[in-house]
Amino acid sequence: MKKQHTHKYIRSKFKQSGTRIYKCILPGCHHYILEEFIEGKISVCWYCGEDFVIGKRAKRLKKPHCDCVRRANRARNDIVEDFVGSLLK
Ligand SMILES: [Zn+2]
Ligand SMILES: [Zn+2]
Repeated sequence: MKKQHTHKYIRSKFKQSGTRIYKCILPGCHHYILEEFIEGKISVCWYCGEDFVIGKRAKRLKKPHCDCVRRANRARNDIVEDFVGSLLK
């Protein structure tokens, strides 16, 4: 048996029924879970590769990610604000 891994989920759906699911994209893994049960599950972040718990916000994403993206965006906005601020001085 291979070692248990943290699933890396992507949103998908069954072709026939249209039921929305999240499935694991890691090679050799056929795990999937119905969308209604994804909340609270641990997934691998698509951006930083860290484990995180899927909450309401990540659930809306096709490729769930943790807060790292928001943090990065905020850092970038701070830089832009600093830059604009320095122009106004
Ligand atoms: Zn998996
Ligand atoms: Zn992340």
